[in-house]
Amino acid sequence: MVMTLEPPKFSYEPVNLTPNEYKSGVPPIWCPGCGDYGVLASFLKAISELHIPREQLAIVSGIGCSSRFPAFVEAYGFHGTHGRALPIAAGIKMARPDLVVVTVGGDGDAFSIGMGHIPHAIRRNMDLTYIVMDNEIYGLTKGQPSPTSPLGLEKKASPFGTVERPINPLQLAIACGATWVARGFSSKPKDLGELIKAAIQHKGFSLLQVMSPCVTFYDTYDHWKSITQPLPADHNPHDRLSALKYAMDDKTLYLGLFYQEEGETYDASYSAMRARVTKPDYGVREIIGKYMR
Ligand code: SF4
Repeated sequence: MVMTLEPPKFSYEPVNLTPNEYKSGVPPIWCPGCGDYGVLASFLKAISELHIPREQLAIVSGIGCSSRFPAFVEAYGFHGTHGRALPIAAGIKMARPDLVVVTVGGDGDAFSIGMGHIPHAIRRNMDLTYIVMDNEIYGLTKGQPSPTSPLGLEKKASPFGTVERPINPLQLAIACGATWVARGFSSKPKDLGELIKAAIQHKGFSLLQVMSPCVTFYDTYDHWKSITQPLPADHNPHDRLSALKYAMDDKTLYLGLFYQEEGETYDASYSAMRARVTKPDYGVREIIGKYMR
């Protein structure tokens, strides 16, 4: 039997639930003031406004403070292993393409141990949303520098300052060919909610970096408030070079949609290939005869 892998993205019957009705009842245990509270509130509002049934949503995470996220939402949840949220999410999406699959995690989980998965998720253009809550520090393990920590950051694990240059997640994603790239800030929940909605609605891989301060180990609230601003009104999100230019700006932390394009998704390509090779003239014998002489 041919497995169909390309149903309409929003094949669900819309429901009317308030953001509170998407809460699991498990209270978040983040430190008071952690930016992740703002991300969770924006996310709950976004899925409420997209009218997603709870049984049509799967949230997958890795390891870290922000990776506790799935426990707080009444939906399918998978708290995975360190850095492996993307392959788990990809497997879920392949098995259940009708689900809205959202991957969440932090900068350490995404850009250190999980880094190898990102370019591949991008080149496959899997229909997944990846929300990376970036606080530029490892919070769960008490404040070691992460791959996005600024050069020279002095912490307990780097008392003389880090000597590694940080990764720029947006530059990386745009350069790898991502079809949807944006940046939000947990202190701007309204704008963040709109970005989350747009990321989920994008057909293909969407990377949303959310600046989400860790008040306990690296409190960047005031600094980020002083250097963030919306992308200029004349920025064209279909212009990859313009997106790169703003992503690489090292003085201003621009917020908004950097880049967007339409592209065939992995599940659509795979579905088409399956349909092709399971036709009678492409039976196993014919394939062996053609390629294994
Ligand atoms: Fe948030 Fe930092 Fe506390 Fe973790 S340690 S919950 S990132 S404030």
